Amino acid sequence: MRAMTDPADNAALLPILVAPDKALKLKARRVMPGDMDAVRALLPRLFATMYAAPGIGLAAPQVGVALRVAVVDLMPDDAPAPMALINPEVAAVGEDWAVREEGCLSLPGQYADVSRPDRVRVRYTDAEGRAREVEAEGLLATCLQHEIDHLDGVLFVDYLSPLKRNMLMRRLAKERKARADE
Ligand code: ZN
Repeated sequence: MRAMTDPADNAALLPILVAPDKALKLKARRVMPGDMDAVRALLPRLFATMYAAPGIGLAAPQVGVALRVAVVDLMPDDAPAPMALINPEVAAVGEDWAVREEGCLSLPGQYADVSRPDRVRVRYTDAEGRAREVEAEGLLATCLQHEIDHLDGVLFVDYLSPLKRNMLMRRLAKERKARADE
C-alpha cells in the first residue's frame, strides 16, 4: 500500500526505443512556445516511464519524440527529486574529468566506463516555462550530459572505441534475441 498517490502513477507508460533504433540517432529540435502544451502532457508520461523502468534519466527521443526534453531524478536519500529539462544545454564545464560507469534504458543491460567533465553548468527551461540554471557535479553531472547527448542523437557507446562499441552492440542484440526466443 502506498501512503501517497502520485499523479505520475496514472500516466500511461511509453515504450522505450532500444539501440540500434535510427530514431535514437536523430538531432531533436528545440521546444518552441507553441510546443509547451504537448510538452506538459508528455512530462508526466516521461517521468512515469523512467520510474517504472527504473532509471535515473530519460530523454524524449528515447520514446520517439524528437524534442529537446529530458527528465532526471537521482532519488537522493530515496526521496524523489524530479527535474524536467526543456531545451537544456551545457553552458560551462569544469576542468577535471571523471570516469563513471554508464548504462542507458535504450541499451538495456549494457554498461561501460565513460570519461566526461566532472562538473557542468546546465541552462534549461522548466515545466513552468522559467529559465533555470543548475551547477552539477558527480553523478548528476554525468546524468545531465548523458541526457543532453540523447537530444543530439549521441549514445554513451559513441564514446567507446569501435571495437568495444561493436562488442557491446552485439551482446545487446544477442541478449534481446535470446529473450525473444524464450
Ligand atoms: Zn540513455
